[in-house]
Amino acid sequence: MTKDKLDIEPFRQWSPAGDNLLLIAGPCSAESERQVMNTAAQLIEHKINIFRAGIWKPRSKPYTFTGCGEKGIPWLLAVKREFHLPVMVEVMNADQLKLVLDKGIDYIWLGARTTINPYMMDEISEALHGCDIPVFIKNPISPDLNTWIGALERINGAGIRKMATIHRGFQSVYSAPLRNEPHWDIPVKLKCTYPDLPILCDPSHIAGETKYIEDIVTKALALETSGLMVEVHNNPSEALSDDKQQLTPTQFGKMLKNVNFHDRCRTLASNTPEQEEVIAKINTCRQIIDGCNEDLIKVLAQRMAAVKEIGEAKRKIELPALQASRWRDVMNQCLSLADELGLSKELVTEIMDVIHKYSIKIQ
Ligand code: PEP
Ligand code: MN
Repeated sequence: MTKDKLDIEPFRQWSPAGDNLLLIAGPCSAESERQVMNTAAQLIEHKINIFRAGIWKPRSKPYTFTGCGEKGIPWLLAVKREFHLPVMVEVMNADQLKLVLDKGIDYIWLGARTTINPYMMDEISEALHGCDIPVFIKNPISPDLNTWIGALERINGAGIRKMATIHRGFQSVYSAPLRNEPHWDIPVKLKCTYPDLPILCDPSHIAGETKYIEDIVTKALALETSGLMVEVHNNPSEALSDDKQQLTPTQFGKMLKNVNFHDRCRTLASNTPEQEEVIAKINTCRQIIDGCNEDLIKVLAQRMAAVKEIGEAKRKIELPALQASRWRDVMNQCLSLADELGLSKELVTEIMDVIHKYSIKIQ
């Protein structure tokens, strides 16, 4: 069962970016005070709102760098003091949470390897009771919306009302060349379930390599992301974790400029006449789409009614439900019409296959 509503505080009321897109950036891992200070000094020029750095790192292999641990907390507090930037770390269990609470760390995020595990989520939720720290919840490793929603419900059930999510992609053997498969439909479904819930995008963990980051950000912006969390390191080639996906501060600035990040204002009131014109065009297209969707559903209902009738007729004379030669003819007819109309053959094949599958099922 999914709760219809989460009890959350409106994002604009607690986000340091207010009505605008929230920009979180910083290294995958805090490695030294000098590294975090140097990176942060360059990042404030790109108007970030929150500085991130992992101090405990969940790594696939045991003998790799697993984070600087607790000693990174004062380094982040130095960033906060020096640059007036709020700071954020990942916690994976109740002990880590207790170590960061009350020390001046402003935000926490829960990683994909934590949100996948209901037991860990229960432990963290329990430790969060009575706290007011804002929590960012990444999607779980597997492409399962319910597990993500379960993580949100647990944190919200612990009384945390300042809550946001981060889409970082899903592990899959088919994700290449990306590190994690985006499955854009999953954050879109989450948004449909909870329209007020902010969803940020972490293009770094989706990409796995810096060259894919800009395209992913473009896509996320087109899907109305609430902000970004990007991994940026002052010297990525020397990074102790996720070296291939971390941008330099200069590359980060270029990417933001290319996607027009800072010029995107979310308040409708500030739209220029040209933007208003585009919005009017979008609204017209949406009306057309709504009409088409209605037609599609009605036609589909008609088709299914005919399928049902055929099914009954076939049973009377004991014909099998599936007649391959008839289906081949139907598909060929559809594909040649698709070709004439300039529609993708792949799209039509997939849709017709699904319709066929259900037609056989009801026969
Ligand atoms: C991270 O942000 O550094 C991290 C470990 O993220 P994820 O949980 O998305 O792998
Ligand atoms: Mn990382």
